[in-house]
Amino acid sequence: MINCLLCLQPVKQAASWESSWLFSEEVLCCTNCLVGFEKLTGPLCNMCSKESSDEFCKDCQGRELYLNRNRSLYQYNDFAKEYMKRFKFQGDYIIGAIFQKELKKYFAASKMTIVPIPVSGARKLERGFNQTTAILKQSDLRYQEFLAKKHSEKQSKKTKRERLETEQVFYLSEEIGSSEKEIILFDDIYTTGSTLNLAAQVLKESGVKKVSSLTIFR
Ligand SMILES: [Zn+2]
Ligand SMILES: [Zn+2]
Repeated sequence: MINCLLCLQPVKQAASWESSWLFSEEVLCCTNCLVGFEKLTGPLCNMCSKESSDEFCKDCQGRELYLNRNRSLYQYNDFAKEYMKRFKFQGDYIIGAIFQKELKKYFAASKMTIVPIPVSGARKLERGFNQTTAILKQSDLRYQEFLAKKHSEKQSKKTKRERLETEQVFYLSEEIGSSEKEIILFDDIYTTGSTLNLAAQVLKESGVKKVSSLTIFR
């Protein structure tokens, strides 16, 4: 018997050999929990994946970004917020595995080098892990840690938000080979896009031609 990673209830295993084979491959979460995550169905903004009936949403119209395109899988609804709280802040490492099937599928199709958004060394010590590399590791995906993040002192909310938009917090942690033409950044949540854009800036200034991103939530 396997238990759902999120609610810990036993998951019913179907009887046929075919479904039990599928089960052992991918199912880590019961259907009750799975429906809590709402897929982004669209129509979506061509740039940032926000629900939008126009080709580009209002946030993206006229905005010049280093990031070429973002795609996200699920809405950042209350269920997703609870999930992230448990995973990131309460350190429930194991639940980072539940998106592995979709991530494998998505990245297999893209064939680009995956670069996770880093956390600063101090943040990593505090939490015990970086949530983005934790998810990739548990999905059996290979990635390159080309980027590192400076640790910034906590400041008042307003200044912090302003600084987040513009101040470069990332730097190259290793030389990027000239063969790296296209990179896909991976992060847990897309909110304003400024984090991903700053990361894309560092990569582009190091000669990468195209930088897109995938996030679990949007
Ligand atoms: Zn469950
Ligand atoms: Zn947009």
